[in-house]
Amino acid sequence: MTRPRDPLSCPTCGDPLRFEILDDERFLVAWSCVNCGLIRTTEPV
Ligand SMILES: [Zn+2]
Repeated sequence: MTRPRDPLSCPTCGDPLRFEILDDERFLVAWSCVNCGLIRTTEPV
C-alpha cells in the first residue's frame, strides 16, 4: 500500500483535495479532486 507524501494533495495533478466524511463512526473519508475528478477513500488501519 503506497501513501502519497502529502495526503492533502492530488497525486495526479497536485491540486489540494477536498474531503467528505462518509462514515463518522468508522472514520471513512472520501477525498476528491475538483480539478481532475480523482476520488480516493481512506479506511481505518
Ligand atoms: Zn487532481
